[in-house]
Amino acid sequence: MNELLAAYRYTTNNFAQIGASQVCGCCHCVALFKPDEIVGWTGLTMQNMDDPKAIDDQTAMCPRCGSEAVLGDRCGFPINAAFLSRMNEAWFQRTLIRPKRKTAP
Ligand SMILES: [Zn+2]
Repeated sequence: MNELLAAYRYTTNNFAQIGASQVCGCCHCVALFKPDEIVGWTGLTMQNMDDPKAIDDQTAMCPRCGSEAVLGDRCGFPINAAFLSRMNEAWFQRTLIRPKRKTAP
């Protein structure tokens, strides 16, 4: 599989992965930051907020730009400016076909 496509899967439902990472980066604004800088998560509702699985499946929001495009180094890909730039080109400048994603509520 294309490594950018593989890495992109880790930008969603990544609460556990990011919690185990040392450094995180955003594929949208190409910022690098520490996991504890992330304050916004999506995925929990009133119905599932006590469900441990749902908590692990939350999706990080970038503390800089608010995009759900955050990767942690625990995903196995290099989290640096060069890699994030390639992700940005692929996904936000649409040089790769983007999979359908749920829109935020
Ligand atoms: Zn960002």
